[in-house]
Amino acid sequence: MKEFQCPSCRQPVLFEHVACANCGTPLVFDASCIDMRKLGLNQACRNREIIGCNWCVEAVDWYCRSCSLTRTTPDLGSTRNIMLWRRMEEAKRRLLYDLRRLQLPLVSRSGARVAFDILSDEANPILTGHLAGVITLNLAEADDVEREARRVAFREPYRTLLGHFRHEIGHFYWDLLVNGTAFQAPFRLIFGDETQDYQAAISSYYGRTDRSYDPRGFISEYATSHPWEDWAETFAHFLHIVATLDSLAGLPLSLDERARQTLTDPYFESDFEALLALWMPLSRGINELNRSLGMSDAYPFDISPAVKGKLHLVHMAISAFRDQRKLAA
Ligand SMILES: [Zn+2]
Ligand SMILES: [Zn+2]
Ligand SMILES: [Zn+2]
Repeated sequence: MKEFQCPSCRQPVLFEHVACANCGTPLVFDASCIDMRKLGLNQACRNREIIGCNWCVEAVDWYCRSCSLTRTTPDLGSTRNIMLWRRMEEAKRRLLYDLRRLQLPLVSRSGARVAFDILSDEANPILTGHLAGVITLNLAEADDVEREARRVAFREPYRTLLGHFRHEIGHFYWDLLVNGTAFQAPFRLIFGDETQDYQAAISSYYGRTDRSYDPRGFISEYATSHPWEDWAETFAHFLHIVATLDSLAGLPLSLDERARQTLTDPYFESDFEALLALWMPLSRGINELNRSLGMSDAYPFDISPAVKGKLHLVHMAISAFRDQRKLAA
């Protein structure tokens, strides 16, 4: 996340702030220009009062660009659900910021639009997943205790709301960036044959008794379940990398000229090696910082040469898509 300043007093403000902590000016985030502005008349999103959404509305809309993508909200009868939904929408706005910076569209070639169903599992079990642009999330994942219990149960080193959003949107972009494009053949070579039965692969993954896998080939255990899941996991990691480098750009560090060039816009860096050259020491550094604070690693993953190849394909597919759009425009 790049650094934002209060438009009144120029003090730093956070992406989530509804008002400047220094001078109290009410703020809105304007996704069209990717900047913080003073809250103007009729600019507040309808969800501002309820869940602290600080994005502005456009023209006569009631909801901002982010909230308007939430097709189904959970049952808001309890203050707990409202608090959990607030966390969900916060994570979602970070995802939409990533996609805005990457200039990736929210509509597929067949016209399917990205939408979100955020559901509470009080009546029925809710499975997090993606289907034709619709991303379903289980509200319970926003509860720290529940999410941590699941993380341990699934033996995952990392489980976050933002991670869920970045993973699920990866499925949507597989269809846009890979399916039927020049990247289909390289995808099969690197990630495997995605035509293998998906449901059978997922069932067999959850039924495995031997949980060992080759970590040199995959970014996570779940990535071993099916090539689509491997892609979604890798896509999420690509977003983790560029988003965290975007935050690095705001820190008062002395960096060489090449690094500074990458950090002017990591989302648009055309040289994959340059991204990785910054990411490797940075990920070690944030882990060490976390350990110094008595916390677990912020990025508990190793990027092996094979995983690096997969990330590179994600980077190439995104870049090629953007180039084609520019040519078509
Ligand atoms: Zn201020
Ligand atoms: Zn909103
Ligand atoms: Zn998935």
